[in-house]
Amino acid sequence: MMIVMKEGASADQVSSVVSRVESVGARAHISEGEIHTVIGAIGDREQVANLELEGAPGVDHVVPISRPYKLASSEFRRNERTVIDVDGRKIGGNHFAVIAGPCTVESRDVMLDAAGVVKEAGAQLLRGGAYKPRTSPYSFQGLGEEGLRLLAEAKEATGMPIVTELMDVRDMDAVLEVADVIQVGARNMQNYTLLTEIGRSGRPVLIKRGLSATLDELLMAAEYVLKEGNTDVMLCERGIRTFETGYRFTLDLMAVPVLKELTHLPVFVDPSHASGRRDLVPQLSLAAAAVGADGIIVEVHPDPDTAICDGPQQLHAELFGDYMRQLERVAEIAGKELAREQV
Ligand code: PEP
Ligand code: MN
Repeated sequence: MMIVMKEGASADQVSSVVSRVESVGARAHISEGEIHTVIGAIGDREQVANLELEGAPGVDHVVPISRPYKLASSEFRRNERTVIDVDGRKIGGNHFAVIAGPCTVESRDVMLDAAGVVKEAGAQLLRGGAYKPRTSPYSFQGLGEEGLRLLAEAKEATGMPIVTELMDVRDMDAVLEVADVIQVGARNMQNYTLLTEIGRSGRPVLIKRGLSATLDELLMAAEYVLKEGNTDVMLCERGIRTFETGYRFTLDLMAVPVLKELTHLPVFVDPSHASGRRDLVPQLSLAAAAVGADGIIVEVHPDPDTAICDGPQQLHAELFGDYMRQLERVAEIAGKELAREQV
């Protein structure tokens, strides 16, 4: 249930509504818009409805939100889109953002080389995993804290904000030292302890859709972060598991417009992990931009043939400039602007 206060409603009127909501054991989430203050009541729907808040002093109207997620729903923000500011880079609304870099931080040279190339080509954020969720426990698991140090060096060298995965709450403090955006990998989308702790950290987060997760499940994952008061949540479609074996996963591009109908949160697409094939990445990226994505997260490597992981899907760094120019054109047709990183 969402209680929209009248323009100019007093602080006393707001706190009186909050007390009434809390009196039936529900939680009140206050969001102050430019004109209206909106109070989200999260708890037993029937009990909140019985409060009959419609007509209470200062209340303009009450909107029932029937979906299981409340704070993530479009109704909660009255169809206004969330725009996230990551160190001056805008994400969401009419902005188009590109997060690019190698799959994993594998060495100082590769990281700094890739960082320089993606910055020069206009990507706004730099990616690289220090903790890698690998299917086999015998595969390279990431450089861990050494990887975080190299990311810090790349950030220092380029000024680009860092997007990196956190797999385990025990690494939270170390990751918070360098991550401007914490990535929650597909395999951890339903790790509710992790999501709650990230919510409490207040750091922007990119949540990747689980391999077999529905859109509602993805939105409920976002809700775990939002309910802790962290509003900087981005979602990412990265391919789902289907019966098709011709490529790594099936990129569900329909998820983009549908998510944007259901939620105010920015929606990214990861064409690299979806396809597993670099030849498909450019077309899928253009398609994602055309269908209204707020950004792309893409793997780029100076020499993909020697990459420690995901070599076949990483774009060659030398072709990344052309890729960005094409992407920018399609994003523009879709009504978005790509604010290039200043070199
Ligand atoms: C990644 O982006 O590094 C990654 C492992 O992706 P996903 O969690 O989507 O598989
Ligand atoms: Mn990868």
